Amino acid sequence: MTRGTDAFSRLMTAMEDTDPACQDDDRFVLDDQPAHTLVQICRACPVFDLCKEYAAIAKPAGGVWAGRRYVNARGGREGQS
Ligand code: SF4
Repeated sequence: MTRGTDAFSRLMTAMEDTDPACQDDDRFVLDDQPAHTLVQICRACPVFDLCKEYAAIAKPAGGVWAGRRYVNARGGREGQS
């Protein structure tokens, strides 16, 4: 198991016992939503640390993870907030 898949597995397991606000909120996946409006939501999230760890390792191709927006590397931006 790679570090990324291991971190993702830990995050998914933790999410089974919680209900993170991003689950049903399109602002976390739409590219035109500024991440700074979501930071407070993420900071209050019970799985923030696991989410941040996964994103730091895997550098997701898109979406907001632990209050930071990740954009497909081909777009030239990564980890914008
Ligand atoms: S910290 Fe991660 S899991 Fe929690 S609300 Fe933010 S994006 Fe969702």
